[in-house]
Amino acid sequence: MGLLQSQIDRQIGKHKEWYSIHYPLCGFCGHLFKPKDIVDLAHFIRRSSSRELQTVKLNCCLAHRDCHDIYDNSPDQAIYLPRFFEVMYIVWLLDRQYFSRVSGNYADLQDVFAKFPDVEEGEISHHGELVQLHYLL
Ligand SMILES: [Zn+2]
Repeated sequence: MGLLQSQIDRQIGKHKEWYSIHYPLCGFCGHLFKPKDIVDLAHFIRRSSSRELQTVKLNCCLAHRDCHDIYDNSPDQAIYLPRFFEVMYIVWLLDRQYFSRVSGNYADLQDVFAKFPDVEEGEISHHGELVQLHYLL
């Protein structure tokens, strides 16, 4: 028996609160939010793809509505999001099958993705610390 949708939504609401306090930056561009910004709780692995991963904190971040939309719907632009590699690395960590599916959208980045297994444990942190994976390029 999995969680009810209402329990999932409550858990996601808690993550949004946690991120607002501990990591109030856009997970895709790394910038602080301005009062006028529309802020979503975004999922790196789409909610429709995995019921279980909906409530995994590492799979969540706060995001500008625009950055969220670019990540979800415009792979050709998503590669310019400053935290794109970190995000893809997290996707790779969480679900290799999903990663294989979506990584095909980024044909030019296959060489970079191929280096993910070489990233040392601890070189990336999603919660409160920005670690750049751009050196992989
Ligand atoms: Zn952003």
